[in-house]
Amino acid sequence: MNAYMRASNLGHIPRQIEWNAARRGVQATKVKGAYSSQQCHMCYYVDKKNRPDQQTFCCRVCGHCTHADMMDISYLSLGDSW
Ligand SMILES: [Zn+2]
Repeated sequence: MNAYMRASNLGHIPRQIEWNAARRGVQATKVKGAYSSQQCHMCYYVDKKNRPDQQTFCCRVCGHCTHADMMDISYLSLGDSW
């Protein structure tokens, strides 16, 4: 993704997000996107089968189920970054 953004002249976007967040007094944190949509934020289990469809997240280990968009928001709000 980083190579694509640099090649397509979009490499300035992360810096703009950082600058805009600092201006507003919030923290911008880089998060690796790989597998984050398949990872349970309760037990951190990662499995493609945790997403039976586009809207549903249901962890196969702990049973935590929610709307997939809510899972992404919860994941990001926990500040999980690598
Ligand atoms: Zn789980």
